[in-house]
Amino acid sequence: MANLVAIVGRPNVGKSTLFNRLTQSRRAIVSETAGTTRDRQYGKCTWNAKEFSVVDTGGWVVNSDDIFEDAIRRQVIVATQEADLVLFLVDVTTGVTDWDEDVATILRRAKLPTILVANKVDNSSAYYEAAEFYKLGLGEPRCISAATGGGTGDLLDTLVDML
Ligand code: GDP
Ligand code: MG
Repeated sequence: MANLVAIVGRPNVGKSTLFNRLTQSRRAIVSETAGTTRDRQYGKCTWNAKEFSVVDTGGWVVNSDDIFEDAIRRQVIVATQEADLVLFLVDVTTGVTDWDEDVATILRRAKLPTILVANKVDNSSAYYEAAEFYKLGLGEPRCISAATGGGTGDLLDTLVDML
C-alpha cells in the first residue's frame, strides 16, 4: 500500500484517539488479514490534497492489563516492514519509559521516516516537559493533544511533506 502511515507506541499513549481524529468519518477497515495483522485497524486521511492510509497498530494489546514486551516489539517491527512513515507516539504525562527507549532503538535501526510525537500536551507547561523526548534520538518531538486536536494540523503539514 502506498503512503501508509503507521501509528506505533505503548498502550495508552493515545494511538487510537489520534487514529480516530485523523480518519474521522472516513474510517474504514480496508484490510483484514489473518495472523499478525488481524487486529490492525486501517483508515484514510486527506490533508493538503494528499491522501494517505493510516494504521493503528495497537489492537492486540488493547483490553489487556498485561503489557507483553514482545508483542509491542513485534507490533513495531511489523509496522516498519509495511509502513512508508511511522508516527511514534509517546506520552508526556509519563515521560520517557524503558519501552519508549526500546521502540526508539528499533525505529532508528529501521531507518524509516519517523516522526516523534509527544501526545497529551494539553497545556503550555507540558511543552517544556516534552523536551525530555529529545533523548530518544529521533529528533524534535512534535507536541500534540490527540484529545483536543491541538498541534495536529502542524503535525499533518509535516507528515504530508515527508510522503
Ligand atoms: P492507545 O492504547 O494508545 O490506543 O490509547 P487510547 O487512544 O486508547 O487512549 C488512552 C487514554 O489516553 C484514553 O483515556 C484517552 O482518552 C487518553 N488520551 C488520548 N489522547 C489524549 C490527550 O491528548 N490528552 C489527554 N489528557 N488524554 C488523552
Ligand atoms: Mg488503541
